[in-house]
Amino acid sequence: MKVVVSEIPRMGLSLDEASSGAEMDLEGQGISFLKLVHLHAEVRRQDASVEVSLAIDSALTYTCDRCLQKVEEPLARQLSIVRPAKGEKIIDITQIAREEIILEYPAKRLCRPDCKGLCMYCGRNLNHLSCSCSKGETDSPFRGVWIPDKKEKE
Ligand SMILES: [Zn+2]
Ligand SMILES: [Zn+2]
Repeated sequence: MKVVVSEIPRMGLSLDEASSGAEMDLEGQGISFLKLVHLHAEVRRQDASVEVSLAIDSALTYTCDRCLQKVEEPLARQLSIVRPAKGEKIIDITQIAREEIILEYPAKRLCRPDCKGLCMYCGRNLNHLSCSCSKGETDSPFRGVWIPDKKEKE
């Protein structure tokens, strides 16, 4: 979705686009999209500037780093960009949206901030089930943290 600045009519432009995450080169890094990425843009040209109001709507999915459960998350962003009318011939709205979406990717891939993860002994998801493998250690500050060299106390 590209706008040629010199061709923006007086009334402005209203644009819509729906592309897949793959088409927008957004998949990867463990992220994939559950539906098309919908873009809606209102473009207005003032004397010296072009204003773009952009709405992004989609939903993404990734795997929790601790418990390996699938996480689904809505992606909705509204932003407004002002570019100078001079010197800018084409505004690539898809590219602006792409950069915005990447910034919105979760920094930590967790199903919830306090995800307890999987039991390192029996592999159970400790968010849903408890097990007796680590009995007596439930108050440990390292609960849910993988410590490969951990030795059982006699
Ligand atoms: Zn989790
Ligand atoms: Zn266990």
